[in-house]
Amino acid sequence: MANLESRMNPAAVQIKPQDIFLCNTQDPRIVNLTVGEPSFSTPEHIRTAVQQALDEMPMRYTNPQGDARLTEAIANYLQQKYNLNYDPETEIISTIGVTEGAYTTLRAILCPGDEVILPTPCFTIYDPDIRLNKAQPVIMDTSKTAFKVTPASLEKMLVEHPQAKAIIFNYPNNPTGVTYDRAELTALADILRQYDIFVISDEIYSELVYDQKHVSFAEILPEQTILLNGLSKSYSMTGWRLGYICAPQKIAKHILDVHELVTTSIPAPAQVAAVEALTHGQDDSKAMKAQYQERRDVLYQGLLDLGFEIAKPQGAFYIFAKIPAGLNQDDIQLAQELSDQAKVALLPGTYFGAGGQGYLRLSYASSLEQIKLALERLKTFIDHQK
Ligand code: PLP
Repeated sequence: MANLESRMNPAAVQIKPQDIFLCNTQDPRIVNLTVGEPSFSTPEHIRTAVQQALDEMPMRYTNPQGDARLTEAIANYLQQKYNLNYDPETEIISTIGVTEGAYTTLRAILCPGDEVILPTPCFTIYDPDIRLNKAQPVIMDTSKTAFKVTPASLEKMLVEHPQAKAIIFNYPNNPTGVTYDRAELTALADILRQYDIFVISDEIYSELVYDQKHVSFAEILPEQTILLNGLSKSYSMTGWRLGYICAPQKIAKHILDVHELVTTSIPAPAQVAAVEALTHGQDDSKAMKAQYQERRDVLYQGLLDLGFEIAKPQGAFYIFAKIPAGLNQDDIQLAQELSDQAKVALLPGTYFGAGGQGYLRLSYASSLEQIKLALERLKTFIDHQK
């Protein structure tokens, strides 16, 4: 009898929250702070633009990179925002979200046995994406350096792994909310420049930076950077599946080949939505950001008052909170207790890899009302432990 399941590629297995703790986020009694998904609707003018275009569009395959109007809109946006000069014809590829962008990029650059430096805690897809290519993640635990890659920690990693093919940065970071300023990025770039290493920079939260200006790695180290970004978080467009990759021409052409093999091109209606968002949507993303900032401030202060230790997140919509003394220090068990007893769902830090143990990730993409309710329930739970 064929046992075909045992013949599947084990590297394709992704750890999911339900693999490590049981929480029914569909339960209406649960306040759900697990999700990394904006709570806003896609702005009206974007929906209208797509509705109007549907009648007129041929709905055929588009250029594999994306329609010229889209790659031009991305190029203009990056030019205005960061003074970046990507050629829309040869250096920009639209993708099915950053998820596809990361997979395609790694597929295009990795050979079996290659090493990729992976600062952790980090977004959960990078590790299996690397392994699917028979390459190895070299884990760089950042928890002792305030969840940042520092020049000293980077230098050490590169001396130990001089052949590493790529390093993956994600800032503002999921799960920690940490970001980097220009001086910090410049110091890192000065080291990276000495190595033949790709810098894959996932900047999906670039529009959600609260107390400073976002600086793209591509501004500092354009020749080595493969920039990943998209519209999911900044325009509340997760379901449209819109991302893009920007890279120097000689690199982009190889990535485009893989993208074409995997997708042919991204859906035509989503491309119309992206053009509208990038050309006329600046105010939408500013308004959403203002609301996230208010939620961050409420959740941050509320958690501090409850005894959690937190570095104030500077971007994205997550708080990574160190479990205070007096509570179960096992983050997986505590997440389970909070879900069962306090009816608050959040994610254990362990889920995000080395350095996450003893932390909880709370998302403030949920509404202010839900955040306030979660804080009340956490307070009741903690008071009962005393
Ligand atoms: N990159 C990071 C760091 C994320 O946190 C997420 C989603 O949570 C993604 C990429 C996925 O982005 P997309 O919706 O564009 O695939």
